[in-house]
Amino acid sequence: MFSRLYLHIPWCLRKCGYCAFNSRPLEPHQLEQTCHLLLQEMELAAAAWSTNQPLQSVYLGGGTPSLLSAEQVSRLLACSRSLFGHADDAEITLEANPGTVTLDPLTGYYQAGVSRLSLGAQSFNDQLLQTLGRRHTASETRSAFQLAQQAGFSSIGLDLICGLPEQTMADWQQDLAAALALQPDHLSVYGLTIEEDTPFAGRYPAGSDALPDHDLSASMLEEADSSLTAAGYDHYEIANFARPGCRSQHNCGYWQRDGYLGIGPGAHSFLRQGWGIRWGNQGDFETWAAAIQNNRLAAIEQQELTREDALSEYIFLGLRMADGISLNGFAEEFGERLEHRFSEAIHQLQQAGLLTCSQDRLCLTKQGMLLSNQVFVRFL
Ligand code: SF4
Repeated sequence: MFSRLYLHIPWCLRKCGYCAFNSRPLEPHQLEQTCHLLLQEMELAAAAWSTNQPLQSVYLGGGTPSLLSAEQVSRLLACSRSLFGHADDAEITLEANPGTVTLDPLTGYYQAGVSRLSLGAQSFNDQLLQTLGRRHTASETRSAFQLAQQAGFSSIGLDLICGLPEQTMADWQQDLAAALALQPDHLSVYGLTIEEDTPFAGRYPAGSDALPDHDLSASMLEEADSSLTAAGYDHYEIANFARPGCRSQHNCGYWQRDGYLGIGPGAHSFLRQGWGIRWGNQGDFETWAAAIQNNRLAAIEQQELTREDALSEYIFLGLRMADGISLNGFAEEFGERLEHRFSEAIHQLQQAGLLTCSQDRLCLTKQGMLLSNQVFVRFL
């Protein structure tokens, strides 16, 4: 029913101005309490849901999981291993904030079984980092990267954001060059979105002059594609680039609709049962914690997918990946031909240069990756 596990650590040193993730400024005693509750929730989930195969990947995300001590990470992974089993080659990723890491905990994470580190660099421009409200500097990112290598990590990824307030194309090219100089295995590249109820929404209302316009933002994403692919990275998903063999297996699982269990406040789960079952956990930390303390899972909004829900998800998740969708795989899963059902939409999107359809695969073009939302609505 699931082969992947996500553990959510909802704490950060402070909240960044653009952040709409489920994260809050840390009060120190809460880390150990959270760790304890995550262990308890894993026990409750293991009693409720069985899995017939060991986990292929575990992802510690947040928030800032690198606030955890190595001993806490070790306890979480030992619990997951004993309850669910880990495949011998399971990918275990931890998200780290460059401003929070030193050599000892990084070494401890590695020894605890973390195989992949994802560093939230976001930018190598100190002024832009300050605008974002990040605590770290570019030099701390470089130092965190080197410490991670010293600790034993051979698989290190970086996250970058473009389309930042006052950011120019030259700034962005420097960010890409600085990231490439570190030779990470993996790069995630996101365009800034201004989310409601964040300080950025007040500071940068729609149409604000400080934000790059639509054309410049699109050009920045095109620049990322051309410079990273020229450097040998595979643009394997709309926002993700990897050296050969270094794709994020965990995230590929999301796009391929593998089952996953989400543990922690606000974490989402998807089980492969029937057409699929999805739910989210209570996002509010206290409400989530109270449920777990009372030996109850904190699931809300459980949804059993219909065939049509599953079919739509299969298309718009699968199309996110450069490999696209297997037309035969679709026919096996849904008993009908995708290219027949959506023949008109596919034809028009091909004409517009947004889709390619060859042999068994339906894929977004480079242009389609930039305009993916315009493609996805045609398959609803
Ligand atoms: S570090 Fe990440 S999760 Fe935490 S507040 Fe900043 S953007 Fe949000």
